[in-house]
This record gives sequence, structure tokens and C-alpha cells, in this order.
Amino acid sequence: MMTRVFLLCLLLPLATMGVAEGHAEPLRLSPGHDMIQLGTYVEYLEDRKGTLSIESLIGQQFPWQVSGSDALNFGYSASAYWVRFSLALEPEKNPQALPYVLEIAYPVLDQVDAYVMQDGERIAHFAMGDQLPFTQRPIAHPSFAIPLDVHPSGLTEIYLRVQSSSSVQIPLNLYSNQKMVERSYETALAQALFYGAMLVMAMYNLLIFFSIRDVSHLYYVMMVVSTVTLLAGIDGLTFKYLWPQVTWLNDPILVVSLAGIVAFSALFFRSFLHLPQSRPMHSRLALGLIIAAAVMACGAFFLPYRPLMLITTLLAMGGIVIGVTAGILRWRDGFHGARLFNIAWGCMLVAGFLLALTNLGFLPRNWFSGHILQIGAGLQAVLLSFAMAHRISYEKRMGEEARQEAAATQQQMLEHQMEATRDLDRIVRERTEELEKTNAKLKEISATDGLTHLLNRRAFDEIFLTEYKRAYRDKHPIAVVMIDLDHFKNVNDNYGHPFGDLCLVRAAEVLLANLRRPSDIAARYGGEEFILLLPDTDAQGGVCVAQNILQGLAQTVMDDGEKNLVISASIGVAARIPHKQNDHETLLNESDQHLYRAKAGGRNRIEWQHD
Ligand code: GH3
Ligand code: MG
Ligand code: MG
Repeated sequence: MMTRVFLLCLLLPLATMGVAEGHAEPLRLSPGHDMIQLGTYVEYLEDRKGTLSIESLIGQQFPWQVSGSDALNFGYSASAYWVRFSLALEPEKNPQALPYVLEIAYPVLDQVDAYVMQDGERIAHFAMGDQLPFTQRPIAHPSFAIPLDVHPSGLTEIYLRVQSSSSVQIPLNLYSNQKMVERSYETALAQALFYGAMLVMAMYNLLIFFSIRDVSHLYYVMMVVSTVTLLAGIDGLTFKYLWPQVTWLNDPILVVSLAGIVAFSALFFRSFLHLPQSRPMHSRLALGLIIAAAVMACGAFFLPYRPLMLITTLLAMGGIVIGVTAGILRWRDGFHGARLFNIAWGCMLVAGFLLALTNLGFLPRNWFSGHILQIGAGLQAVLLSFAMAHRISYEKRMGEEARQEAAATQQQMLEHQMEATRDLDRIVRERTEELEKTNAKLKEISATDGLTHLLNRRAFDEIFLTEYKRAYRDKHPIAVVMIDLDHFKNVNDNYGHPFGDLCLVRAAEVLLANLRRPSDIAARYGGEEFILLLPDTDAQGGVCVAQNILQGLAQTVMDDGEKNLVISASIGVAARIPHKQNDHETLLNESDQHLYRAKAGGRNRIEWQHD
């Protein structure tokens, strides 16, 4: 297909190129020619004032010029442009008229008038353009299409008049009817796939936005919707399908949707790349862009189309530059997601670059270059959506890690606390044991006498009370033996206090040596006064112990290496089976009285209650 067109391109200009003025040779059609780009077969005429009519053109000399390119492109121009070409059939090959469709494949042109002349006679006039209701079109096609029957005899001439506030591009394609059906189907399928995919991306991200409330997704949705609106507007789809009667909307919608792309892209990358926090300068530039784009969008409804479109296009270029530099800076910052963002943005950049190269003639026009914007926008939409999904999963992972770290820290704290509690328990236990030991020691200390290590009086009183009560309960006798050393004052006076102490210690030893039962106790009751408590012992038993003690003392020589002495003691013994549990004092008094009697009776003797 392409090679055939290429050959035609090569061959046919030979016939027309030399002709700068006047009628070009007609394009001779045969059944094989079912799709022809007419760019190089046509002549054009610029009508600066826009006043020429079809009548004034025919039969008069005008400086018609031959077009050198595949697609006529006059850029932004207020002039009206006339284009003409003629068609003829090879009569010998085509006995009947052949049906063709002429497509002017730039749907945003404001006014397109097509005049069909058969053998010098006007047989049809089609008035089209996006400033006329869609329903007036001869063929309900998104771009402009008119039916052309080319007859075997004679010449079919076509005059087109185009005027537009948009850029004046007049790509002309001639299709056989059959080819037109095939092409329309393919184009519609490709468009359905592209716009369907874009709308699904938008819908999907809108739902994500509702679900996670990240405003980046909303900006993305609006960006995609704006892109779809602009591209569908350029494809003539919005007019055909959305507002076929509302002609005044066709120009502004292009400005509004381009401004929308600029503003929502800027909002998107500003929020996606966290620019306000990280790159305030870029963030402010983006904000400026957003405001400017918003102004353009508002102005679109009452200001002239052409300057607005130019300014908005400049804003779009500015937006690309800011977006790309911000993306690269954030990528260098190490910001997560910036890499995918740059790849997505890069797709759009490459698409724009390829489009520019195609328009400048460095690349051939083909299906790919004709749809490069759609391909770029589609890739960008998919990659950005992927970048956002990637970020969701990244943030989820980060959150998960943070949660795990927090849980681990908590666990650690808990373990520390438990360890501390265990330590505390141990310390408390140890301290308690220590305290108990100390207490026991203190009790022992407070219970014993420092010099003789016998129990002291307080301890004796306690034990005496308990034992007395037990004796009362058991109806057993209990004996108390009170011992007082004789003339001890003299010992101190004559031998010194330290020697007196030694005597006290020795006497205590004698007492202990004469206690036979484990339940017997001896205590130091006062200065040189001792007392014995003998449970389960009657007076007889007590006296017996007392006699042994006197004997023991008599046999003990107090000797400190220098002096020596033998001392004696007077002893009172009292014993009974208690009648009451609380009259232990009387037993003590009794033994004291007997002791007194022993002193009075001459000392070194024992007194007790004789029955
Ligand atoms: P008696 O035969 O009447 O009991 O005469 P005594 O001198 O033993 O009696 P007194 O109560 O008059 O004197 C007790 C003396 O015991 C007084 C004090 O000097 C002495 N004494 C008391 N406690 C201690 C002590 O811990 N060490 C020494 N070395 N002497 C003590
Ligand atoms: Mg004494
Ligand atoms: Mg005394």
C-alpha cells in the first residue's frame, strides 16, 4: 500500500511540478487506486481577505500554486484557502462511474466548503465545518467526508474553501467506497480501544481515589479526562457524539481541555512528587502554571480562540519543562516513584518530539506517526497509574515495616520490663532474706547479754510467760531458780571491774554446765544476778540443780593469770503447777523472797519453800 502511494508520489509530481500556474493535470483513477493522499496533486490559492467566491474563481486567472507536501499545512492564518484538483477515470478500464469518498482529515476546521464540478458545471456544494451543525454533513463521519462519483467520460473538479481560527491544515485523502468502509472500521476500532482504555484508567483511578483519598489520583483522573477530551475533540468525536448541535462549544473546548491537561498535570506532579515540601521553587512555578491555565480555560468562552490557544500551548511546553526538571531533581533526591514518573513523562516527551519531527518532514507520515500523541498519552497514562500503584504498595510496605518495628520495640520493652520485674523480685527476695537474717541477728542480739551470752532479762520474761502458760495447760510443774553472787561489790572493789566481768562469764559457764535438759534456760537477770527456768521441774529438781551450781562455783577458781578467787552465790528456788495462766509474777517474787532469805541466812546457800 505504502509503496504504491510512494510510487504515485514519485511519478505524478512529474506531471504537475512544473506547472506553477493554471490547471494541473487531472489525477487519473483506475480500480487499483483505492486510497490516495492528495497533497501533492492539488493546487491552492490563498485568499487573504476571504472575499473570493466559487463563481469568481472559475474561468479567471489566479496565482494557483502547487503543493509540494503530502498534507497541506498553512499554520494559524486568518486567510481563506482554496484548494482544487481534478479527477478522471481511464475510460477504457472503467466503463462505469466509480464511487469515491473525499476526506478532509482535520475535523477542527471552522468552515469547509466543497464544490463538485462535472465538466465545468457545478453539481454539488457541501457546507461543513465545526461551526455548522453536525447533522448538515453529507456523511456522518467525525472528520469531513463527501461522496464523489467519478465518471468515465469528462472531468470531475473539486474546489475546497477552508477558513479556520484553528491552524489551517488540509490533509486530503481519497478513498474508494470499499476502502472507506474498511478504513472507518479500523479507525473506529483503534479509537474505541484507545479511548476505552483511557476511560477505564480514569475510572479505575477515580475508584482508587474514593478508596484511599489520595488526591494525586483525582488529579490524574482529571488529567486523563482532559487528554481524552482534547484528543477526541481533535478527532471530531466530541462534536459527533456529545454535542452535534452545539457549534459554539467546539473551539473553546480545545482550549479548556488543553488548559485542563496543563493544570491537572501540574497539580498531579506537584502532589505526586511532594514538590511543596521538597522543591518549593518548582512547586511555585507549577502553581503559577495552574493559575494561568485556569485563566485561559475561563477566557476560552469569550476571548478569541487563536491567541488563547497559542498561550495555552506555551503553558503546556512550560509545564513539560517544569515536570521534567522536577522529576529529574526528585529522582536525584532519591524520591521513591520518581523513576517511573520520569519514564512516563519521557513517553509523552518522546511522542511530542517524534510528532515535531514528522511535522517538520524528517519522519514519514504513517499510521504510527499519525497516532503518536495517542500512543504517548496512552503509555503515559498506564505508566503513571502503575507509578501510583507502585507507590501505594511501597507505602504499604513502609507502613508494614514501621508497624513491625513498633511491635518489635514493644515486645523488647515488654521483655525488659519482665526482666526488670524478675530482677526486682529477686532483689526483693534477697533483700527480704537479708533483712530476715539481720532481724534474726538483731533479735538474737537483743535477746542475749553481751558479756555472758546468756539470754537477757527481756528474753527470759518472754519465754517465761510462754512456758508458764504451757505448764498451766499441761498441769506440769515449772521451777524458777534465782541466783545472786555473794559480795560481788567487794570483788569489783578488790580485784577491779575487768576481773569482776571475768567472774560473771565463768559463773555463767557454770550455770550452763549444770543445765541438763534442752528445755532448761539460763538468763542474766541483773548485774550479778542470774535466773534459771526449768520446765517440767518441781522444787526438788530445782534445788538439785541449785546444789550442783553451788558445788560447781565452789570448784571454779576465777583466774586471770595474776589473781585468783573462788566465789559463791545465794540461791532461791520456787516451783509449782500453775493454777492460773497469768500469775507467773508471783512465782518470780517467791523465788526472790527465798533468795533474800538465803542472803539473810548467811549466803552461799539455797532457800526454797519447804512443804
Ligand atoms: P550481796 O552478797 O548482798 O549480794 O552483796 P553484793 O555486793 O553482791 O550486792 P550488791 O547488790 O550490793 O552489789 C552488786 C554488785 O555487783 C555491784 C556491782 O559492782 C556489781 N556488778 C553488777 N553488775 C556487774 C557487772 O556487769 N560487772 C562487774 N564487774 N560487776 C558488776
Ligand atoms: Mg550479790
Ligand atoms: Mg545483787
